Amino acid sequence: MNKELISKYMPRWFNGCYAFLFGYFWLPCPLCGKKFGGHECSDGNEVMLSYGEGQCVCPKCGEEAKRINKKNNYFIPRITKTLINN
Ligand SMILES: [Zn+2]
Repeated sequence: MNKELISKYMPRWFNGCYAFLFGYFWLPCPLCGKKFGGHECSDGNEVMLSYGEGQCVCPKCGEEAKRINKKNNYFIPRITKTLINN
């Protein structure tokens, strides 16, 4: 089953079991404090602590993390296809 679908449509207790069974962390979100699993981390859902160092946030806080990163002038570096090919 797709991790994104589990995160979006399954209840929190199921996500906790999924994290436990498949070896993902199950920790409080640094922004809202609600527990979420490592399988729910996705691209861009991180709040940057410094350049190159970020902390994953729960799916609901993704937009808030982006706003904080923008306010602090941090961006999440992405390796583009152009960089890899050159
Ligand atoms: Zn959160």
